[in-house]
Amino acid sequence: TQKKKTPHVAIFPSPGMGHLIPLVELAKKLVGNHHLTVTFVVPSDGPPSKEMKFVLKGLPESIDHVFLPPVNFDDLPEGSKIETLITLTVARSLPYLRHVLTSLASRVSLVGLVVDLFGTDALDVSRELHLSSYIFFPSTAMALSLFLYLPKLDETTSCEYWELTDPVEIPGCVPIPGKELLDPLQDRKNDAYKWTLHNTKRYRLADGILVNSFKELEPGAISSLLKREDGKPRVYPVGPLVNIEPSTKVDESNSLTWLDSQPHGSVLFVSFGSGGTLSSHQLHELAFGLEKSEQRFLWVVRRPNDKVANATYFNVNGQNDTSFDFLPDGFLDRTKYRGLVVHSWAPQAQILSHGSTGGFLTHCGWNSTLESVVNGVPLIAWPLYAEQKMNAFMLTQDMKVAIRPKANENGVVEKEEIGRVVKALIEGEEGKKLRNRMKDLKEAASKALSEDGDSTKALTEVADKWKNQICN
Ligand code: UDP
Repeated sequence: TQKKKTPHVAIFPSPGMGHLIPLVELAKKLVGNHHLTVTFVVPSDGPPSKEMKFVLKGLPESIDHVFLPPVNFDDLPEGSKIETLITLTVARSLPYLRHVLTSLASRVSLVGLVVDLFGTDALDVSRELHLSSYIFFPSTAMALSLFLYLPKLDETTSCEYWELTDPVEIPGCVPIPGKELLDPLQDRKNDAYKWTLHNTKRYRLADGILVNSFKELEPGAISSLLKREDGKPRVYPVGPLVNIEPSTKVDESNSLTWLDSQPHGSVLFVSFGSGGTLSSHQLHELAFGLEKSEQRFLWVVRRPNDKVANATYFNVNGQNDTSFDFLPDGFLDRTKYRGLVVHSWAPQAQILSHGSTGGFLTHCGWNSTLESVVNGVPLIAWPLYAEQKMNAFMLTQDMKVAIRPKANENGVVEKEEIGRVVKALIEGEEGKKLRNRMKDLKEAASKALSEDGDSTKALTEVADKWKNQICN
């Protein structure tokens, strides 16, 4: 049988909704604007979540998906960090990936493989099968610049990065204190550091790196990434690639209907991404702080976890409980006329584009940040894990679109501080400034994505490379 002539690209997302969602947006562009076809090959350590299935099943016919058999982690020590689990999910899925790609290649014109920031072990399979390989970096240009610099930073630093007295100078970026660098860089003896470094050392094996950002958002980091250097793959800023469609089938929480009845720009949206959880003490302070602020709010809450800040990373809705018994007594009743509390997951993209939403208290996940940028929504930066502290640093110190509340000496943000920042964001002068700055970025984002915008052109270059592989 003759193979179809349409160039076909396989996408291999590492675990995490925050990795899958922007890759889905990438796939939609490759299919819609460049007439390629795509298959998602999805590794995991368990059955796919409801949210993940919903995202993949709602896609056009030219975007297919295959769930790989779950890998086994029984041999890993308790308390292994997410960067370790993510990288090992990828590494242990390679035999399955090889099998799926080989079978795909016999049916379609498979030209390329796209992996993401923790998926570099798959580049070996790509090479074996003579596919061109690209890394999609779903975070900031700043984090990418750090990833490319990490092998050198590792060689030239002997202490922990948080012990450094001078801020770290990531090429093209505002110098940043070591303690704000991403989570796995805070303990160099932990396996999570080893695996992060392992991935960064392999970035040079890719034919190119796509980064979900754009020039006006991160001018310094992007200019530095665009400089050509020996051994550094070409970097293509293609962002903001964001989810603009519903991420939940039905609005189970009624959050959109509730927003419809609130005044314009009056509501603070509060959410910590797909994985974020607070301790019980912090959750109570947040509840009292929202009460104190006297502002309207829409809060996606999860059962607190006193051990880790990313308890739902691998399974957003795994909690499967719908009670709010962990909130302070009487909280729901006292705030019912100006607050809505929803469980675990809400249609965030639509909430952020709703006219009633006036601000976002966020964990600073990069997708959440970009979704705010394209909607011009100013932020309260409340980072929890991964690279979120770096993002919060950049959003407050460099871009000036966020307020960052101060934690006390035990790392807890107290209710008074929460009340203060919420008020300042929604009805204060400071909020106004941040909102105006966000509006400028919103315009710049829409320009980058326009027909002759930089991000559109960068993605066309990559797509043309794949197309040319068929013609030649
Ligand atoms: N998201 C959502 N509803 C939720 C929580 C998250 O739709 O209740 C989506 C959100 O819109 C974003 C992604 O999940 O696209 C989360 O990615 P982000 O990078 O912000 O954070 P992560 O979950 O990776 O920490």
